[in-house]
Amino acid sequence: MTETQKKFMKEAIRMAHEGMEAGHGGPFGCVIVKDNQIVGRGYNSVLKTKDPTAHAEVVAIRDACSRLNHFQLEGCDIYTSCEPCPMCLGAIFWARPNKVYYACTKEDAAEAGFDDDFIYQEIDLPLEKRSIPMVSLLREESLQAFSAWKEKEDKTEY
Ligand SMILES: [Zn+2]
Repeated sequence: MTETQKKFMKEAIRMAHEGMEAGHGGPFGCVIVKDNQIVGRGYNSVLKTKDPTAHAEVVAIRDACSRLNHFQLEGCDIYTSCEPCPMCLGAIFWARPNKVYYACTKEDAAEAGFDDDFIYQEIDLPLEKRSIPMVSLLREESLQAFSAWKEKEDKTEY
């Protein structure tokens, strides 16, 4: 661990405190770094924004992408005060940063009442066995959007 890495992680942890103390949400903070500069930051804002997806990492990814004016985080590192939940992990993979540094583990989060283990268990289940039912409707009709995408000539691949 370098002093620079330590500095950025301390900032992510500071954000975790800030968001929690302001009543915005749980104690989670995140900063996104590119070329040694913070280009995005976020803390959990689920309560404040009434948005269940407003986890620190998602908020920081949106902030960074907005500032960088790009839908990917090439060349960026993510510093998060806690190991990402499955939703944030998915968002991180879509954003394609270089690396993720995390401080607390998901076991630490579970200990504090933020247990995401049930989501990992749900992912492993067949769709029909999940606690939230998933039912496929109108597949053929919806496939037309994919056909149109495949044929679209002026698209940006990502
Ligand atoms: Zn999350």
